[in-house]
Amino acid sequence: MHVLLRQLNRVRRDARLPRGRPASLAVRHVDAGSCNGCEHELQAAASPFYDLQRFGIGIVASPRHADILLVTGPVTTRMREALLAAYAAMPEPRLVAALGDCAMGCNVLGDPAALAEPLEELLPVAVRIPGCPPTPDAIAEGLLGALDGGLPRVA
Ligand code: SF4
Repeated sequence: MHVLLRQLNRVRRDARLPRGRPASLAVRHVDAGSCNGCEHELQAAASPFYDLQRFGIGIVASPRHADILLVTGPVTTRMREALLAAYAAMPEPRLVAALGDCAMGCNVLGDPAALAEPLEELLPVAVRIPGCPPTPDAIAEGLLGALDGGLPRVA
């Protein structure tokens, strides 16, 4: 929890500077072929215990409402087109985050014959959250980093 407390202090500090900081981050999650371990930790990060909504981070159902595409798992051939379609549907500015070692192309999981290109070759990944799976703390830290610096600042 110490990571979250440190981030909360930073959010409180930034609250004194309302101009220039995005107020929220809408996250669209796509499972591109995960074992569900990363989803389990993402679910924990979004739970009331970690309470990411307190920081303005929320998971949305449609890519049309999303600021950031959060991808888990290696990209399978069956999910490749759906992943690209989700990215294409997002309004700009938009970010892509790789959640977990599989999404970062570490070859943890999957039959090579069933895998498409690594995520990094398909989309412009700006946020990387390593781990197999990453802890809820690491997920929170990665998303808060994207909220703080990943999107163009508003005037
Ligand atoms: S990084 Fe680990 S937990 Fe996440 S999808 Fe890959 S094998 Fe599963």
